[in-house]
Amino acid sequence: MTRMQENYELKGNRVARLNLEDIRFRAKRFGEILRIDRHTPAKIEQFVENLSQENICIDPVDDAEWCFVTDAICIPEDFTIRMPHSTFVKLCRGDRNAIGLLFHELGHLMLGHKAVLHSERSSPPTPEEDSELQADMFATFVMARMKLGEVGQLCFAF
Ligand SMILES: [Zn+2]
Repeated sequence: MTRMQENYELKGNRVARLNLEDIRFRAKRFGEILRIDRHTPAKIEQFVENLSQENICIDPVDDAEWCFVTDAICIPEDFTIRMPHSTFVKLCRGDRNAIGLLFHELGHLMLGHKAVLHSERSSPPTPEEDSELQADMFATFVMARMKLGEVGQLCFAF
């Protein structure tokens, strides 16, 4: 099955192009530095604690005050990830989807998703420039490191 690149519709923001190997490399480095392995899901609270020592803040927001359409958001300028309190509780219990969500958001931070680099008039976007796909891939590589399988339905065809 081939995908027409000119028809590619971005799921997220358009960001600097990264190929699969770039993302795999960064996920590996991240996993090594934070000592992520198959035991991490069982001690995810400790992991979140370790993140704060790296100045990455996980900030639970009262569910009633959560006014975003997304399940979590990251604020790259502050190295902060916000999620509803109920999601944070699930995360601390080792819920697989919540863990996937956390590493997706960490992907946005670790892959440097800050600015939209291209104007509307520049060349058409490609999957390699999609912030959402990039973050999903980052999460998938880290999840594999924890033996937790894939996140969502990913297409690694490019
Ligand atoms: Zn995202």
